[in-house]
Amino acid sequence: MTSIEETHRALHETFSSRITLPIAWRQHQLLQLARMFQEGHKLLASALNADLGRPTLESYFTEINTAVDRSLKAARDLPRWAAEHDVEVDEDLFRPWNPRIRREPKGVGLIISPWNFPFFLATMPIIGALAAGCCWVLKPSELAPNCASALGDLVGRYLDQRACRVVQGGVEQTTALLDLRWDHIFYTGNATIARSISHKAAQHLTPTTLELGGKCPVLLDPKSTCNMDLAAKRILFGKCQNSGQICVSPDYLVIPTYDDPGVLPRVVESFKRAYDSFYPSSGGALAHPESLSRIGSLRHFTRLASLLTHTKGRVVLGGHADLLSLRIQPTVVVGVGEDDVLMGEEIFGPVLPVLEVGSWEEAVRVVRRVGTPLVTYVFSEDEGVKAILRERTRSGSLVFNCTFLQMAVYELPYGGVGESGSGRSNKACMEEFSYVRSQIDVPMAMESHLEIFYPPYSEEATRA
Ligand code: NAD
Repeated sequence: MTSIEETHRALHETFSSRITLPIAWRQHQLLQLARMFQEGHKLLASALNADLGRPTLESYFTEINTAVDRSLKAARDLPRWAAEHDVEVDEDLFRPWNPRIRREPKGVGLIISPWNFPFFLATMPIIGALAAGCCWVLKPSELAPNCASALGDLVGRYLDQRACRVVQGGVEQTTALLDLRWDHIFYTGNATIARSISHKAAQHLTPTTLELGGKCPVLLDPKSTCNMDLAAKRILFGKCQNSGQICVSPDYLVIPTYDDPGVLPRVVESFKRAYDSFYPSSGGALAHPESLSRIGSLRHFTRLASLLTHTKGRVVLGGHADLLSLRIQPTVVVGVGEDDVLMGEEIFGPVLPVLEVGSWEEAVRVVRRVGTPLVTYVFSEDEGVKAILRERTRSGSLVFNCTFLQMAVYELPYGGVGESGSGRSNKACMEEFSYVRSQIDVPMAMESHLEIFYPPYSEEATRA
């Protein structure tokens, strides 16, 4: 078996050999990546099902089809994206200097990906690295072992092994990888590990992309003009995808009731209707394994079950946890205070706490106190409310009247701010794995224009 050091050395040699630089090589690898997902779809879907109990339809529309589509788009757009181009400048003096920029690959990248979307979250940076002309190592999560092994197998068969490698393992292997020098590290996972990754990266001054998590709030306008049924359906949809184990999953709901006692019952009824429409049979969500993912591990299941036991809130929908299948019913909990256990860590599961506050001012205060999340979700059709929340909240993205589906827009960069991370994913991964190289070419014939810069600096020249 090749050691981590050997893999690292081989990839640096490949990069130095310049085989990854031609656009044709990069496009071929991107097309191979698309082929890998197209031809390997059955293996990949069954790995997702084995590791996460992922519903087949969800596997295709969130991971497999997306990977094919985006690899093809990247291959198509690459020549335009990578082309050298002129830079517009203000001063007449500089125009003849031919200011231009081009994107250059950073070199050899390390991609560390998590278990919750094992293919999507590995593929976005892989596409970025290939498009940029980098070599890379992927370290998939050991917590989705079937997916990690499927990726290792397929990458070995479809992509150029001189430039693209998968290293399997857990903390020991990741630590060994992080001890080496990389030209970029793209990490997706939790903020605690991100701190140690930043520390390791700093030893080599390696730039990082950190795609982290946090508590993404949903703010719901209680006015009668807001279609509560649709809002509840769209919020519950985001919470049920992968059983809420998504970095951009709606974490908690804040409703400014303005002391109207009718608001909460109306919201709860809407959630019940949405739930019944998603899981129509009498057994509810737990009777629909084809529509509800498992919780990723027993550890996470126990953590979520403990949150449900210790919350001081009142469960108004769901609440059942089935140890045998590791599934938890999508659950809505009302009467939750800011100091409740559900408002501590990121929930990362299908449990939605609801906080009632008096006004939008209070809602903004709660959201700002919780942190700077990946996304702020707002349900309102009032442009004034939207403007207030746009101006007074901070997050990587801002999404009105929908949850989760912003991820479908490849061209929209996504990522965090503050505690939720730095750098951007989706199409923007190409930028993460490259740098802008600026260039000028000053004509020798323009020497008279340059005379002013040269010493000796006479008083006459200084006055001029
Ligand atoms: P995880 O446990 O799979 O860990 C992620 C990666 O870190 C794995 O490859 C793992 O092997 C590695 N790792 C684990 N311990 C390590 C250590 N001590 N040192 C070095 N590497 C180590 O996944 P996770 O962290 O539980 O993922 C869930 C978190 O990730 C949540 O907070 C979620 O919000 C966040 N997340 C963010 C995004 C995003 O795009 N922003 C996407 C998905 C998940």
